[in-house]
Amino acid sequence: MCGIVGYIGGKDAYPILIKGLKRLEYRGYDSAGVALLNGSLNVYKKKGKVNDLVDFIDDSNVKGSLGIGHTRWATHGVPDDINAHPHLSGSERLVIIHNGIIENYAPIKLWLQTQGHEFKSETDTEVLVHLIEKMQKDGDLLIEEAVRLALSKVVGAYAIVVIDRMDPDKMVAARKSSPLVVGIGEDEFFIASDATPIVEYTNQVVYLDDNEIAVLSRKEGLKVLNMENEIKTPLVHEVDMKIEAIEKGGYDYFMHKEIYEQPKTIDDCMRGRLNAQEGWARLGGLEQYKKRICNADRIIIVACGTSWHAGLIAEYLIEDLARIPVEVEYASEFRYRNPIISERDVVLAISQSGETADTLAALELAKKHGALTYGICNVVGSSIARITDAGSYIHAGPEIGVASTKAFTGQVTLLSLMALVIAHERGTISTSRYQELITELGQIPRKVEEALTCDERVREVSERVKNATNALYLGRGYNFPVALEGALKLKEISYIHAEGYPAAEMKHGPIALIDENMPVIVIATNQSAHEKIVSNVQEVKARKGRVIAIVNKGDNIMKDIADMVIEIPSTLEPFTPLISVIPMQLLSYHIAVMRECNVDQPRNLAKSVTVE
Ligand code: GLU
Repeated sequence: MCGIVGYIGGKDAYPILIKGLKRLEYRGYDSAGVALLNGSLNVYKKKGKVNDLVDFIDDSNVKGSLGIGHTRWATHGVPDDINAHPHLSGSERLVIIHNGIIENYAPIKLWLQTQGHEFKSETDTEVLVHLIEKMQKDGDLLIEEAVRLALSKVVGAYAIVVIDRMDPDKMVAARKSSPLVVGIGEDEFFIASDATPIVEYTNQVVYLDDNEIAVLSRKEGLKVLNMENEIKTPLVHEVDMKIEAIEKGGYDYFMHKEIYEQPKTIDDCMRGRLNAQEGWARLGGLEQYKKRICNADRIIIVACGTSWHAGLIAEYLIEDLARIPVEVEYASEFRYRNPIISERDVVLAISQSGETADTLAALELAKKHGALTYGICNVVGSSIARITDAGSYIHAGPEIGVASTKAFTGQVTLLSLMALVIAHERGTISTSRYQELITELGQIPRKVEEALTCDERVREVSERVKNATNALYLGRGYNFPVALEGALKLKEISYIHAEGYPAAEMKHGPIALIDENMPVIVIATNQSAHEKIVSNVQEVKARKGRVIAIVNKGDNIMKDIADMVIEIPSTLEPFTPLISVIPMQLLSYHIAVMRECNVDQPRNLAKSVTVE
């Protein structure tokens, strides 16, 4: 993970770097650091958040119009001041920031040690900068050439930026499996892990590809090379990202703001893809391969974390409506377990960032076996969006809270559209059912808006359960993945252990945990299984469990049995998750705030998981 930012131009680099690091902090917050070149090369780094770095630097001399900054999510070496980036080379001529893992750092380190190199940190990154320096010294090379040679010896994933004190008018960057975006301003360049630190200054960007090296030079402009040293012509894109989208806009936390954005983001996701009045749904990304997808033997969904829960909902949707068998796989397991993939399979990858390392690797495997690959991502221009045969963006806008909310509902909306389009094409649902579902999907943004009015009620409920040490989430059918997602949200941001279970499975184990201290959150909005879930609630009550039921407005049966009830609007069963997840998000949010947890930056987590 880690956030990378760099600047070269006429302005003071330091404020640009600090602002950029704050925007990238969602990627990691174990430590932060900057390096500035102004005749001398000055490195400042500190364990903790970007603000800890700012306090630490305070009255130091931070002048310089060339600099790099890093916010770390530690993989090699504990989070402390020494392991924090930037890392200097042995002679302190070079300085590097790195996102990723150098897998063969250990043998390289041993070899360098036999050559007299001494290391200060435990990181793989410091080994790389020593290797670059060794190549540079031995061959008397330009920095870009030394970087290229060193990277040819390296196995792993990286996005790096390197500065050479003796070559003060340029910085060199390279990427493999970790994102890097170059921003092109007037006589200035920016570089960052994503576009958020850049959009304030320019909307002209170049997304570097794997195995590309970029030289950002005051004298020669931007030069992009591949690992064979051939010059590539960079493709300049225009980013369309508004500053308000990456600021809190009056909310205390990004997560709360992002929860409230959902009526709009769901609407944005459907724009041009669904017309309830005219009664049609279409997905541009699907058009070219519609036949192949409709005739697929199987759809395999690969994803991680919250995206995996969206994938589970897609299994229900696609099998229910479009009648194509679906398998949902953890990308990390799929890629290493020698799975059976055929050319008649479609592999669907879901990832908010579009950079999730395991999902990317799973896609590469799928491609090798000849399957059609389809990406569902939020971040435009991300690696998954670029390596898949086809795909659709969810258009949720930048999601900054580490715990995903609006990206999840965006993914589920997109997958609902997809299921509808395929079902219609295959004729597995009647025209009247298709129309009914389309009309209802068109109502979802309004219903999500209505569901958000339960916020105050959820806050009251949170007050009553905030001191729990364990919680159980139960749901059936379409609401089972929502139970998993609710439990994950609670774990992620309020550090309460929680389990999600299919309601009926509770009898096969978790029921043993139930006592008067255990909140049991029951998502009981699906009409088809209502009686069954009422029985499950009775079973919990019989063991003195405290039941919080999420119900459709006017559900009086549950009101009589449950301890606490949260009402939300009803919808057609296939779209239930889009509404029932709202109280799940709010519950974890309020409990986290009450427990004084850092909602947007939960401990040990980072948003864009670009390491395995
Ligand atoms: N491997 C480097 C470190 O631990 C970078 C970590 C990362 O990008 O997540 O410092």
